[in-house]
Amino acid sequence: MTAAEYRSSLDDGRRVWIGGERVERVATHPAFAPMVDAIAKIYALHEDPAAAELMTFRRPDRRPGSRFYKIPQTQRDLTLRRQMTSLVLDRVASTIDRFGDETVTPLFVLHDRADLLDRFDPAYRTNAAAWLDKLQRENLFMTSGNTDPKGDRSLQPYQQPDPDMYLRVVRETDAGIVISGAKFETGAPTAHVAFLKPTVGAWVAENRDYAVSCIVPLNSPGVRHICRMPNNHGFSAADHPITARFDEIDTLIVFDNCLVPWENVMFSRQPELAALMRSEFSRWAAQGYITRCLAKADLLVGTALVLAEEAGTINLPPVKSAISQLMMYKQTIEALLLAAEAACETTAAGYVMPNQAIQNAGRIFCSQNYNVMVHILREIAGGQIVMLPDQAMLEHPQTGPDIRKFFAAGSRTAEARLPMMHLARELTASAAAGRTQAYQLFAETPIFAQEAALFATYDRESAKSRARFMAGK
Ligand SMILES: Cc1cc2nc3c(=O)[nH]c(=O)nc-3n(C[C@H](O)[C@H](O)[C@H](O)COP(=O)(O)OP(=O)(O)OC[C@H]3O[C@@H](n4cnc5c(N)ncnc54)[C@H](O)[C@@H]3O)c2cc1C
Repeated sequence: MTAAEYRSSLDDGRRVWIGGERVERVATHPAFAPMVDAIAKIYALHEDPAAAELMTFRRPDRRPGSRFYKIPQTQRDLTLRRQMTSLVLDRVASTIDRFGDETVTPLFVLHDRADLLDRFDPAYRTNAAAWLDKLQRENLFMTSGNTDPKGDRSLQPYQQPDPDMYLRVVRETDAGIVISGAKFETGAPTAHVAFLKPTVGAWVAENRDYAVSCIVPLNSPGVRHICRMPNNHGFSAADHPITARFDEIDTLIVFDNCLVPWENVMFSRQPELAALMRSEFSRWAAQGYITRCLAKADLLVGTALVLAEEAGTINLPPVKSAISQLMMYKQTIEALLLAAEAACETTAAGYVMPNQAIQNAGRIFCSQNYNVMVHILREIAGGQIVMLPDQAMLEHPQTGPDIRKFFAAGSRTAEARLPMMHLARELTASAAAGRTQAYQLFAETPIFAQEAALFATYDRESAKSRARFMAGK
């Protein structure tokens, strides 16, 4: 799919609402157009001769497919996958999170677990394989829907007063399953299909109707996109260097008696497979998450360095110490990412995945510490970054001179300093900063679920043997 084809593909009758209005054309609507441009750049990157080797791979039929959709079979595949994600972050923006490389990876898990799927229904294996093939051939942008609205958290899905609080199978028909409920999804209005999966939970038999996974085109009848309020209303690049690029809109996707043909069903009414999906969900996905966190950490370090240099604080020992702390977080994230790749594991089906215990530690580290890193930048930046005038004030004949005088520092003019100060504000003190911190905390599920994954993948026997040896028993 070319960038132009991607843009026009969004004119598919999808029902999207934002700010109280129905969106006519996603690709040109001000809330979405910058995001569409960012995703279009990624499509263009697949065709850029300098990047194509990294962005694509050769399928068995010798045709190129997007590397997003290649299951790693060697350690080198893992490395290329990380480098591909980094290239997107470098070329498009360090702050872009949802573009399809990690959302497909639970499909890798189903592929890897095909033998297990066969115990339930051989069609599941066929459907997962056919979808991976389709994604590779058509390079569709697939987003992810795991999180349900959930209603009363003290009740199981099947106990909720409204049965749609968790996405469920209403009925199975000859044509497919009919689903109702909703999922939260980042990027849905600008994606083609959503991969729906069960959320974190206790997958007991009574939750059977909720144990469903399927792939749904985002223009399907019965699908409604209820978007959150935008964070970039009419923003200029000078004042909002991050959000003027794009606002990654998060959406409540409503599925109202939506028919999903059988070939798009990964599994239906299978609590055991829901539990499997949850426990192995992050096998490959977390590599993308940690790679994103690394880019964000490096952005925080770079912003801190430039701000401190321009303010003349760079040589103060406490400032150097704070920046070194930021550097420590960034280097630790990089070390965990690279170590998980270097100590990779081979699955029973012969695919290669990052070392799970190291990767699980890495994602907890990122989830727990992004807000700490942001706080360090805030300390380095000082309070002025939340008191900044905008470009219009700088250009105004009556206010401009004051701004030029009082925002200058030494040989650095106000014009030279303000863009970096605005960047620091957007990273630490904007609506977008709050959203990014929430994303960093929750994108890999809440920390308690990540801790459970680390506990399950840690080599506990080896640790216990060591302790027994030292205890002399
Ligand atoms: C910016 C952003 C983008 C997102 N994008 C997506 C997306 O594209 N797709 C998607 O599927 N999801 C997405 N999410 C949702 C994310 O996966 C959820 O926020 C996350 O799984 C937590 O679910 P929740 O928000 O419903 O919190 P809740 O489940 O209500 O949990 C809130 C808190 O309650 C406590 N808690 C709840 N249950 C338990 C329990 N069983 N044991 C112990 N403590 C518990 C924990 O402290 C937890 O942090 C996104 C979230 C954010 C913030």
